[in-house]
Amino acid sequence: MKDTAKHQGLRNQLVTVLEQKGITDKNVLEAIKKIPRHLFLNSSFEDYAYQDKAFPIGAGQTISQPYTVAFQSQLLEVQKDHKVLEIGTGSGYQTAVLCMMGAKVYSVERQNELFKTTSLLLPKLGIRPKHLSFGDGYKGLENYAPFDSIIVTAGAPIIPKPLMAQLKVGGRLVIPLGEEHQIMTMLIRKNETQFEKHEFGEFRFVPLLENKN
Ligand code: SAH
Repeated sequence: MKDTAKHQGLRNQLVTVLEQKGITDKNVLEAIKKIPRHLFLNSSFEDYAYQDKAFPIGAGQTISQPYTVAFQSQLLEVQKDHKVLEIGTGSGYQTAVLCMMGAKVYSVERQNELFKTTSLLLPKLGIRPKHLSFGDGYKGLENYAPFDSIIVTAGAPIIPKPLMAQLKVGGRLVIPLGEEHQIMTMLIRKNETQFEKHEFGEFRFVPLLENKN
């Protein structure tokens, strides 16, 4: 597991690409500059790790494209020590970016293989989310609620009600909504009963699947 000056150089270039694509949040860009994305991928993809592309991570899943990670992270408006719930830990790359941004991250993954691999990988890289959970993200994490923000990193056919319930007033839920392709959607909780909806164009994700643990 090596992170070299060459990797750092490629990360700097990736950050320039993300800025050109419209990412402005310095906290997001700094985190992407620091997290060694190549270590979250199978070593056969190492040479491509800093291209702005999604890649397979096993169990039929993908690590999200850096632009998508940056875009969702920016929408969350993470402040230091914010409690953030992530649905779909996957490779742990998005988890790592949020931790680097200063969030206290709680993340849920339903594929046992990915849950195990990522639970071992993150501490090796010195990244310490508050809690990694194996289970169904549709339910959120009631025991740890409420959250300052919630990010869903798989395409959801609907907005799971428990996620709305587990969001603090003023908090943001960022979720790609749709089946074939997804519309990036953000709900801001205005009060106990009202949510304000914002939409941000089309993205492509693997599906958020109903639990079959
Ligand atoms: N954030 C990840 C993205 C992985 S792709 C990364 O940066 O690598 C989406 C992930 O969501 C997959 O790992 C998939 O197994 C997981 N997933 C799908 N449905 C889920 C559910 N109901 N609950 C929790 N995780 C789910």
